[in-house]
Amino acid sequence: MKHRTIIEPFRIKSVEPIGLSTEAERVEQLKAAHYNPFLLRSRDVIIDLMTDSGTSAMSAHQWAGVMEGDEAYAGSRSWERMEHAVRDLTGMPHVLPTHQGRAGERILYGHLGGKGKVFISNTHFDTTRANIEFTGATAIDIPIPEGQDTALEHPFKGNMDVQELERLLNEHKGHVGAVILTVTNNSGGGQPVSLANAEEVSATCKRHGVPMMLDCCRVAENSWFVKNREQGMGDMTYRSIAQRMFALADGAVMSAKKDAFANIGGFIAFRDAELAKACTQLLIITEGFSTYGGLSGRDMEAIAIGLEEVFDPHYLDYRIRSTTFLGEQLNKIGVPLMMPIGGHAVYVDAKKLYPHIPPAHYPGQALVCELFRLGGIRSVEIGSVMFGTYAEDGSLKPSRMELVRLAIPRRVYTQSHIEYVAETFEGIMAERDRVKGMRITEEPHFLRHFTAHFEWLH
Ligand SMILES: *Cc1c(COP(=O)(O)O)cnc(C)c1O
Repeated sequence: MKHRTIIEPFRIKSVEPIGLSTEAERVEQLKAAHYNPFLLRSRDVIIDLMTDSGTSAMSAHQWAGVMEGDEAYAGSRSWERMEHAVRDLTGMPHVLPTHQGRAGERILYGHLGGKGKVFISNTHFDTTRANIEFTGATAIDIPIPEGQDTALEHPFKGNMDVQELERLLNEHKGHVGAVILTVTNNSGGGQPVSLANAEEVSATCKRHGVPMMLDCCRVAENSWFVKNREQGMGDMTYRSIAQRMFALADGAVMSAKKDAFANIGGFIAFRDAELAKACTQLLIITEGFSTYGGLSGRDMEAIAIGLEEVFDPHYLDYRIRSTTFLGEQLNKIGVPLMMPIGGHAVYVDAKKLYPHIPPAHYPGQALVCELFRLGGIRSVEIGSVMFGTYAEDGSLKPSRMELVRLAIPRRVYTQSHIEYVAETFEGIMAERDRVKGMRITEEPHFLRHFTAHFEWLH
């Protein structure tokens, strides 16, 4: 018999209690957190969909690896394992460990960046953009136009606009630090990038003599989409698809907190020995020696094992299916979503959900607060709070989209948790007309969404 139900391909060996709360309690908790979910206490959250980063449940095999961690300062066995796992996957000879993705970004783009430099991506992730801009360089996003229409169905909405890439490489000749392909395209809606697109981007970069970097945090999830959606890929393994993508790039940066199932960690991988040497210096000054880079041996063990486990076809089938399940439940009750559903998250189109709230009044932030009030669900705004900038006259230049991301931690929540989330959205839909916009009362200069304070408009 062939089953319709795709079950979690694991049993639960260890559990962590969830504290339940009343709506009245959550109203107070929200107020105390200045309506910013980053300022909430985790113990007050019922279902935490803020991020899939560092929140994975590790396997018994990974925990066993943790016990085997070799904590030697230099040349630890755990580093040998991690280096081997990364080399084998990426095919790149030079690997540096980092304590998370952004440490790798700071080192790599700190070296390649600087005033007058330009970086081009399908969409820069927020920390990627911040690290590039922090060096004085400019970060330009060129997703394909289809990627910006949230309702449009397209198999690879994460793709880069190759024609625009060609134009920008001519316009900024001699000033391009790197072209960065983010797989899957996190800020662009968790949407996949096709192998064909990666090949075109790579060929264009080669013609212009510009390095192509892969931001490969979710390269395994991306491989699922390539195998199942791209012509002629059905017979390849998920791992070999990822390897083909790496073969196109000159370097890669990964946050191991995503597809490596680790709670912390990351790496940079390079083909070029000179670039690796320069980055090694920066790593040693700011992160740690080149055989641990800010990680403990046990973390490196967990990463090495996670990088193998993630390519298990049963896991990837379950992973993508369970994310789609949430999307289908929300679709049924009319919640406007970014379509098709991406790999690690469901993105709600807050602009369409609250058409009466203009971008300058942050409809996404309003939805984030409503989700917590009604269900104790923590989510994150990916819109004008995260990406908005101010014009000279002080008015808001809004982000292209006003999304709210419901990111699904790997191997953590069961189907009934997800059904509870869908039920909370029934409440959101019932009260949508009553919701007002928000205003920022306090904000820092960089990455303001992490620490800004908000209040409701009346
Ligand atoms: C998470 C993430 C990063 C940054 O990694 P951290 O481990 O959070 O520092 C960079 N790029 C993408 C696409 C990501 O998802």
